[in-house]
Amino acid sequence: MRPLRQSDRRKLDRMYDVDTRKRALALVAQGRSLNSVSKQTGISRAAIRSWQTRIEPLPRMLPQIRPCCRCQSAPEWPGDPAAYSYLLGLYLGDGCISPTACGGYYLRIACADAWPGLIDACVTAVQTANPSNKAARVQAVGYVAVTGYSRHWPCLFPQHGPAKKHERAIVLDPWQQDIVDAHPWEFIRGLIHSDGCRITNWTTRMVAGERKRYEYPRYFFTNKSDDIRKLCTDTMAKVGVEWTMLARGSDPLNVSVARKASVALMDAHIGPKY
Ligand SMILES: [Zn+2]
Repeated sequence: MRPLRQSDRRKLDRMYDVDTRKRALALVAQGRSLNSVSKQTGISRAAIRSWQTRIEPLPRMLPQIRPCCRCQSAPEWPGDPAAYSYLLGLYLGDGCISPTACGGYYLRIACADAWPGLIDACVTAVQTANPSNKAARVQAVGYVAVTGYSRHWPCLFPQHGPAKKHERAIVLDPWQQDIVDAHPWEFIRGLIHSDGCRITNWTTRMVAGERKRYEYPRYFFTNKSDDIRKLCTDTMAKVGVEWTMLARGSDPLNVSVARKASVALMDAHIGPKY
């Protein structure tokens, strides 16, 4: 007789209460065979046998769900505000929230396959912010969508809305701005990890008759939304990073950090993608 699977046990837990189980086992204790007890009671032999080792129902594994800090009774930010600041940067850069038929929402952040370390960091951030502590990876062509399900994503990201982010105003709520002010580097890191990059340009220069190679690392943040670029540059200004806006055609799309001291600051807190 094969042992019962956990799912079979859970089905039995719903079908038979403990008194019924005790009565079946009492018949077995009288010396009756499992077969005959099974015939008399209509309970399978495997079920009766499993109760000989454990009569109590399996403990119910309810997911540990924290109250939402925006719409439920959680006065303090329950998770890790630094992780939220990072996730907010990721979300504004490359995330979306979509409603499901059952009243919940999926948060999705697209992470390129090329940077496995960033995928791990994103999973941790989604888990930390999600009241149910859950996150999943969904492999697509060339990228992994890190997803999390919750009814409360719009509470945590009130920037959620029907149109694309660059087609509407993106303004942080005061409580979000407080978190970004307290954890500015995490926010910038999230923005750079989703919609930014660190590249190395190089050039040569003649020094004392010798051609020398010079490298110029710089950071870019590229986003179509004027508001999101401004959130990026405002936060950079607060931590002392100098930036310039580069236009593509007539559109100012790229925030560029090229000054040596500012690149060094960015390297100390963010660095290349990994
Ligand atoms: Zn909520």
